[in-house]
Amino acid sequence: MIIGVDIDNVIADTEKELRRVLYEKRGVTLKREDITSYSLDNIAGIEREDLKEILSMFNDGDVFLNLDVIEGAKETLDLLKQRHRIELVTSRPQRAEPQTRQWLERHGIPYDELHFVTESKLNGITYELFFEDQEKFACELAEEGSYVLLFDAPWNRHVEHDNMSRVFSWADVYKFCFPPCATGH
Ligand SMILES: [Mg+2]
Repeated sequence: MIIGVDIDNVIADTEKELRRVLYEKRGVTLKREDITSYSLDNIAGIEREDLKEILSMFNDGDVFLNLDVIEGAKETLDLLKQRHRIELVTSRPQRAEPQTRQWLERHGIPYDELHFVTESKLNGITYELFFEDQEKFACELAEEGSYVLLFDAPWNRHVEHDNMSRVFSWADVYKFCFPPCATGH
């Protein structure tokens, strides 16, 4: 099957780097639980102008080179890639493609294709399964018939859909994709 996989906050720990940059540039200390909206609206201590500057730093691309891999992502994707097609789908700007590919290669993240989102996360591809953290895309995918494993985050706690299961780690993804009773032993 075709499995779609988001990058930021699913494979890459982007949120942790964002908080580090906010601290370094603005002295703002935030915990993960403080990031309650994906667009960072209404978060204490962050002004709109700060946000513009910091998001443009991210979108220029080099920040993406420093991200940590979320625990278990590579190992689980390695196993899935043996049987399925892995398509990475990111809403990063297209100009971040060189840094994105470099980071994926450096960390040995397996994939068949890398797509940059336009208006839709699907772009005409039928994903049977999709790993995502962002509300708008998760809902779009679920509505269109993909089954979504929603990576739990403070910015998506209210999101629910019949075509969606909430996961808290890649260990949960592994359990979903490789249930023990399906191995035939
Ligand atoms: Mg994401």
